[in-house]
Amino acid sequence: MSRVFNFSAGPAVLPEEVLITAQKEMLEYGASGMSVMEMSHRSKDFEEILFTAEKNLRTLMNIPENYKVLFLQGGGCTQFAMIPMNLMRRKSADYIITGQWSKKAAQEAKIFGDVHVIATSEDKNYSYVPDLSNLNVTPESDYVYICQNETVHGTTIRELPDTKGKPLVADVSSMFLSEPVDVSRYGIIWGGVQKNVGPAGVTILIIRDDLITDDVLPFTPTMMKYKTHSENKSLYNTPPCYNIYICGLVFKWLLKLGGTEAIHKINQEKAKLLYDYLDGSKIFHGTVEKKDRSLMNVPFVTGNKELDAEFVAEAEKAGLRNIKGHRSVGGMRASIYNAMPVEGVKALVDFMADFERRHTN
Ligand SMILES: *Cc1c(COP(=O)(O)O)cnc(C)c1O
Repeated sequence: MSRVFNFSAGPAVLPEEVLITAQKEMLEYGASGMSVMEMSHRSKDFEEILFTAEKNLRTLMNIPENYKVLFLQGGGCTQFAMIPMNLMRRKSADYIITGQWSKKAAQEAKIFGDVHVIATSEDKNYSYVPDLSNLNVTPESDYVYICQNETVHGTTIRELPDTKGKPLVADVSSMFLSEPVDVSRYGIIWGGVQKNVGPAGVTILIIRDDLITDDVLPFTPTMMKYKTHSENKSLYNTPPCYNIYICGLVFKWLLKLGGTEAIHKINQEKAKLLYDYLDGSKIFHGTVEKKDRSLMNVPFVTGNKELDAEFVAEAEKAGLRNIKGHRSVGGMRASIYNAMPVEGVKALVDFMADFERRHTN
């Protein structure tokens, strides 16, 4: 076996401990006589997997009682439609566009109503987060939308916008459970799990209960209503059982590690290693304004396309995989999610320093 350091933006690295547990339980889960993949979603065993996963997530994120946790399908992109279908009663919403994912969300919302872009960093190719402290929130808007960590551009919104009383809807796909959050500041906080929590196929949505109503846009299908999933405890139809089981193992792993405070410290340490190196390097540099840098996704460039390509190719050979930047940005990107060990980041920095020595003077 030779596992590499996988810097993929998603699907991404999972904790080895979780994979080993899954391997042990592959043929028989507990005393059930079968794999989780083969179980009825109505079975006692699976219900316990699902409800324990929710309970542990509630502990990890300190989720208030007036918030529901929904395990949904269709990936992150389905939420770009479900959010307006469920919330855009007055057919108006405000979007803050700080990168590719918030842009896509806004684009999709236009199918359903008026989208007001109340802040954007498009002028500098999304390399920073604009000032969100005093926005022109549209009086008739139903919500204000952000993508809190832009996976492609590598920025994080540190100060939440003042939404002037409107519910804040936040896509946290690529920073889910990477640091403590105050859930009560959000109307909806959601993410696809394949970045930081589990295998592709599950989207976790945490929603304040007053936002779950029958008052959705006309023609909203049953499967697209938050109320359907809330009333049925995420068991309206067959959920992605095995993937939820893996998410549950990741939650247990995080709890054992000390929760979001503990992982945040480790994430800060890892990001510092990489950013400090980038700031002192003669050939590599980060592409994001310092104050807005993501702890999870770190884009960087040499400024020379051939040199970038050479670096990516050499890194691959050295077991540092998926370091190539997103096709829309170029250069490199290291995604250093919760499950990336500190040793992985150290190996990357050592490799970069060696590459730099070989390509300077
Ligand atoms: C990956 C990603 C998405 C899209 O997820 P899919 O499951 O591929 O639809 C949405 N938002 C963010 C921030 C992402 O990183």
